[in-house]
Amino acid sequence: MNEFELIRRYFDRTVAGAHCVLGIGDDAAVLRPRSDEDLAVCSDTLIAGRHFPHGTRAADIGYKALAVNLSDLAAMGARPLGFLLNLSLPEADEVFLQGFAAGLFELADAHGVALLGGDTTRGPLSISITAWGALPRGECLRRAGAQVGDLIVCGGNVGGAALALRQGDAATPDLRACLDRPQPQLALGQGLLARAHAAIDVSDGLAADLGHILDASGVGGVIDQDALPLHPALAMLDREDALALALAGGDDYVLCFTIAEARWDEIKTAFPEISAPIGRIIEKPGLYVGGADGKLDPLTISGFRHF
Ligand code: ADP
Ligand code: MG
Repeated sequence: MNEFELIRRYFDRTVAGAHCVLGIGDDAAVLRPRSDEDLAVCSDTLIAGRHFPHGTRAADIGYKALAVNLSDLAAMGARPLGFLLNLSLPEADEVFLQGFAAGLFELADAHGVALLGGDTTRGPLSISITAWGALPRGECLRRAGAQVGDLIVCGGNVGGAALALRQGDAATPDLRACLDRPQPQLALGQGLLARAHAAIDVSDGLAADLGHILDASGVGGVIDQDALPLHPALAMLDREDALALALAGGDDYVLCFTIAEARWDEIKTAFPEISAPIGRIIEKPGLYVGGADGKLDPLTISGFRHF
């Protein structure tokens, strides 16, 4: 099977998207954004052994490669439209490709996102996806913009993916899904447009990613560790261990955002599954844990960094 046969067989699907004039098969795709919209564009690479354990099922690799990109679009408040797939494969393994494409398109179809091109090369397994989505013109969620007094909210459970990674083959299928099939919070992101002051998706750990909001906004934050929405499986761990996974584990792909206190009821009504705010934005730079006595202790756990 040559490169072109591979593309045709596994990735070239007819797309009927209003924003796509020309899809796979030419030297470039041609897009037609609506005149009342802006486009958000992002790119993420997954490398075997680093972003997913060796031995991860092909369908889960395909799913996650797109999920992490859709999560970035969610964090901007964008409605996903399409993506490009740059694939490096050691060999044209049909069993792998079939599974990979099934997982990839399962998520793509669930959100109406079209694959409009890419590149295919031989090399160590790595998957790079570039995705784009639409924003109402002039609007987006940014990391900068958090204001003193804002509530800090975490859009979903944290720590499950990190626990699944630690447990390896011993993880239950439900827990393992946190790691392999993160659910990008696209509806939440779009619902936060014009409501949240700042937002980010949690990929490197809640503490590190909330830290990016604080740095970009020039403010600080204090969190209540007892308010963190821990994945239920973390209940089996001791408190310190559970908090470390929840704050520094990473791979959660939930949104973390800040809003004015007056907006909380509105958010809670629109997204009833979200748990109570986990903290508040303060003037003093840095990330702190609040004690009952009002004392601020610097949070020392930090997230994952590649370098
Ligand atoms: P070029 O040599 O002009 O870069 P290619 O031969 O690399 O063209 O690709 C041919 C067509 O197949 C292009 O439309 C490209 O976007 C598409 N394509 C290549 N690899 C992939 C892939 N992994 N998934 C989807 N489309 C792909
Ligand atoms: Mg090419």
